[in-house]
Formats: sequence, C-alpha cells, structure tokens
Amino acid sequence: MSQLLITGGAGFIGSHVCLSLLEGGNNLVVIDDFSNSSHQSLQRVCELSSVKDERRLKVFQGDIRNPKDLQNAFDAIDSAFDAVVHFAGLKAVGESCKSPLRYWDVNVNGTRCLLEVMKNNDCRTIVFSSSATLYGYPDQVPTPESADIRPVNPYGHTKAAVEQLLADMASSEPGWRIACLRYFNPVGAHPSGLIGEDPNGTPNNLFPYISQVAVGRLKELEVFGCDWPTIDGSAVRDYIHVMDLAEGHCEAIDFLNRGKPQLITFNLGTGNGYSVVQVIDAFEKVTGIEIPYRMGLRRIGDVACSVADPSLVAERLGWKTKRSLSDMCRDSWAWQKANPYGYCHH
Ligand code: NAD
Ligand code: UDP
Repeated sequence: MSQLLITGGAGFIGSHVCLSLLEGGNNLVVIDDFSNSSHQSLQRVCELSSVKDERRLKVFQGDIRNPKDLQNAFDAIDSAFDAVVHFAGLKAVGESCKSPLRYWDVNVNGTRCLLEVMKNNDCRTIVFSSSATLYGYPDQVPTPESADIRPVNPYGHTKAAVEQLLADMASSEPGWRIACLRYFNPVGAHPSGLIGEDPNGTPNNLFPYISQVAVGRLKELEVFGCDWPTIDGSAVRDYIHVMDLAEGHCEAIDFLNRGKPQLITFNLGTGNGYSVVQVIDAFEKVTGIEIPYRMGLRRIGDVACSVADPSLVAERLGWKTKRSLSDMCRDSWAWQKANPYGYCHH
C-alpha cells in the first residue's frame, strides 16, 4: 500500500488510473483545477471501487502552478508521498499552436513548480505522462524509445522540455526515481460505462468523434486523408485501451519503488497499428451501428503511421496490453451510450 499524489486525477486517463490504484489498495490524494474535467468522474471512481473511507481518496481543487495549492495537498497526509503520478496538463495540439505561452506555462512551468514542492517535501518519485508525439515523423515504425526526439508542435515541445527537466533533476542529486511513460493513442473507457472520455466541445480525437456520431450528436465523421502510404490510404495509429494504460501505471510505480533510484522511459502502446477505416469497421461491427463518413484532406501535422515498439517495457516491467481494438470500441460505446452528453448532462 502506498500514499500517492495524483495531479490531474479527475481527467480522462487520471480517473481510470485512480480506479486501478485504489483497487490495488493504495491511498490517493488528487489535485486538479477541473479546467478540463468534472467532479463527477472521481465520485464515480469511488462508486466503482466501493471506497467508503474518505481517507482513501482525498480531492483538492488547485492549480499545479501554485505552490500553496500543491503544499495543501502534501499537507493532507502525515507522511511523505511514496510517489507522484503527474497527469495535469494541457493536451490539444491545435490549441497549443495558437496559445504556446499557455502550454509552456501549464505543462512546463507547472511541472517545474511540482518538482520544487516535491523536493521541499522530500518526495523524489514521479511518473510523468509523456507522449508518442515526441517522435514527430519517426524514421522507424514501430518506434523504440531510443528514436530521435523531434516534436513538431508546441504541445510536443512542452513534453520534450519536461522530459529534459526530469533528466536534469535525476542528474542533479541522487535519489530520484522517475518514469516517463510515452503514451500512444489512449482510447476506450472502463467497461462499466461509468467513467470515460468527456471532451469539451467538438472532439478532435477519433474515438470520441466516432462515438458522438454513433450516439447522434454529430452527423458524420471526416477521415483526414485517404492518400497516406498505408494499407487503405487512411492514417495508422497504435490505439491502447485506457484500462491497459492504467495497469501499466500501477506496474511502473511498483517498479520504481522496488528498484534503485533511476530514470526510465517506456512506450505504452500495443505494438499494433490500425487505420482510421479499420477503426470505423471495428466500431460498426461491435456496436451494430453504421458510422456515416466521408474522405477528407490530410490534417496538418498528422503522420502516416505511429506505432509503438513495446518490447522494452515488456522486458523490464513484464507488462503488456491485454485488450483488443474490439474491446476499445465496445467500452467507448458503453460509456457514450450511457452518458451521451458526458458527465455534466447525465
Ligand atoms: P485530461 O485533460 O482529461 O486530464 C488532465 C487533467 O489535468 C484535467 O482533469 C484538468 O482539469 C487537469 N489540469 C489541467 N491543468 C491543470 C493545472 N494547471 N492544475 C491542476 N490540474 C490541471 O487529459 P488526459 O487525456 O487524461 O491526459 C492526461 C495526461 O496525459 C496529459 O498530461 C496529457 O498530455 C497526457 N497524454 C494524453 C494523451 C491522450 O491522448 N489523451 C496522449 C499522450 C499523453
Ligand atoms: N482522425 C480522423 N478524423 C477525425 C479525428 C481523427 O480521420 O475526426 C484521424 C487522425 O487524422 C489520425 C487518427 O484519426 O490519423 C487519430 O487521431 P487522434 O486525433 O485521435 O490522435 P492523434 O494520433 O492525432 O494524436
């Protein structure tokens, strides 16, 4: 049993990781400013994990850029945290191109502030949500962790900067245990349909877009590009079920706490790529609902193919994904069907 601080724990990935960590017997303190999430997500996490004892999941509304807010969270428990799992941040690529200052402030300055408060409180273990977007246009697909880091948008630049900052911390003094987890495309939801992805406004991402077409909120899907050098011309991604991702976090925390202080960097993906058209087919097959779509132009900044080489994490943590593309479609749909307007309008 560990005491963990979860930044951004109310968000899409954070809420699923909180559930897995609670089920693993850990006690959690969440800090979230709820700028992109609802209080309901963590209430439902409590329902799902049957946490009755409020001491097992404490929630603080606060901003990671504010040291006082962070210190409040650190003061919530008697001992030091065994680790911080750091999800809080901004993640929309298009928005990052329009507002780079905001992205650098929240993602980079926010992490700098978090690390300072961690150091002051003698906590030197952190799991960071990094991204496959770091690889930009990769030379090698499937892409190993050793590939060049050359992001192509401000969001990716901030993730690269944080990874560099974490490496600098690890070199600055002994004792730091750091895991940079580079997620590929997290999708799906908890199979209960009680928690899931609830984007603001029209979704940018494929799975929430398809689900909203299926539920009747959106008319049709536009497939961004039909002339990519792929199996059917549409772009290929490595979609990973968010519950697999959550379990990967639990393994990474155990690994860090077990071993010697070190910095590790892992891809979290399945190693399998699917095209947009293959995803539409899988979704239709699983749900029995037809998804109207039309072929459109390529989206600026997209790559043809992004697939993880997940062999390092399998070798070091003994972790690999268990859930299929059908599982991802089934669970995304279960969430969307039960919550057509997400958390707010339930
Ligand atoms: P999300 O927006 O659902 O969750 C982020 C959470 O952080 C939200 O609850 C938000 O309210 C909170 N937050 C934002 N700014 C904050 C601040 N200044 N102080 C405190 N809380 C703040 O996003 P997500 O999809 O769950 O992503 C979590 C992390 O994983 C992010 O760092 C993201 O960059 C990274 N990531 C996500 C994906 C993806 O496709 N979802 C892929 C790779 C990496
Ligand atoms: N995509 C699409 N139509 C949409 C949204 C996404 O064709 O409305 C494609 C996108 O071009 C990419 C894939 O679906 O090839 C996954 O996109 P997403 O935004 O979910 O994740 P990304 O890989 O860009 O981080």
